[in-house]
Amino acid sequence: MLYDCAIIGGGPAGLNAALVLGRARRKVLLFDDNGARGLVTRESHGFLTRDGIQPREFRRFAQEELGKYPSVSLVFEQVLHADRKGAVFALATNSGFTAASRTLILAAGFREVLPSIPGIREFYGRSLFNCPYCDGWELRDKPLVLVSDGPHLIGMTKLLYNWSRDLLLCTNGWSGLTARQVKAFEERGIRLQTQPISALTGEEGRLEDVVFQDGMRVRREGGFVKTQWVQSAPFGYRLGCRVNGHGGFLTDARGRTSVPGVFAAGDTAVSGPTQQIIAAAEGSRAAMGVNQLLTDEDLGW
Ligand SMILES: Cc1cc2nc3c(=O)[nH]c(=O)nc-3n(C[C@H](O)[C@H](O)[C@H](O)COP(=O)(O)OP(=O)(O)OC[C@H]3O[C@@H](n4cnc5c(N)ncnc54)[C@H](O)[C@@H]3O)c2cc1C
Repeated sequence: MLYDCAIIGGGPAGLNAALVLGRARRKVLLFDDNGARGLVTRESHGFLTRDGIQPREFRRFAQEELGKYPSVSLVFEQVLHADRKGAVFALATNSGFTAASRTLILAAGFREVLPSIPGIREFYGRSLFNCPYCDGWELRDKPLVLVSDGPHLIGMTKLLYNWSRDLLLCTNGWSGLTARQVKAFEERGIRLQTQPISALTGEEGRLEDVVFQDGMRVRREGGFVKTQWVQSAPFGYRLGCRVNGHGGFLTDARGRTSVPGVFAAGDTAVSGPTQQIIAAAEGSRAAMGVNQLLTDEDLGW
């Protein structure tokens, strides 16, 4: 069967794209390998009517809703190939399943690389996060740590100051702050440590201490960390999609990438803040772009 659209990624972006395309009576194949970065967290916040939901629960609800639309099929496998073959896209998964589609939506999200600090994985998604809009409310007024460097450190410190005044900034060895910036921190009682962190310690995901190279321990109850983002899947690069200044695939107002027939939505097309509700909205927008393209092609007017 030739599908109207293949969607790579079953997070909020891909799921919402599938919903809109299913409702538009399009034949859709959605692939997901269940490796989203956001699954480390127990509660996801800031999505109207779903504030505090577990990301896995969110996906389960969405998958159930898609069950109403018979032209949408879900394949829980990893896509290994997505190549253009003439007028269609040819896809192949890790199990050898193959399919062909007229259009493609890239929605495979990002993989996150955490700073290499012993113990950090135990806390990430439990008491250490990357986005105060997602998790700042739960950590409000608590003693917090921010592990960051460069311009991100300054911007994030200003933001976090809205949620807690008890801040410990850790540059983990980076020392590029100006005297003016250091003074601004001191004036507001914000503590700064530039020496490397040797470990994070605590119990069952709850951060308790930041331990520094010289043995000093500072009590903290949670915090935020700057992470590096890399595209989860290589298909956008392989197909020749242009990239924007944030490392996301460049899209226009209909979710179209620079490659005809290829659309992108969610984290993979990041151009600013990333959240589930933003990803879902972009998935909806890309789906409408796909449907418009197919409609124009089919009717030829
Ligand atoms: C610790 C943490 C806390 C967060 N908290 C919040 C929060 O409170 N509120 C909020 O709104 N957002 C939160 N986020 C951000 C949110 O998770 C993302 O912005 C959102 O999930 C992006 O949706 P997406 O659909 O673009 O990508 P994802 O949700 O990442 O989904 C992409 C999917 O594509 C799949 N995939 C990748 N490659 C392939 C392949 N080759 N074949 C098949 N499938 C593939 C992945 O396995 C994944 O399931 C948090 C993130 C983290 C890391």
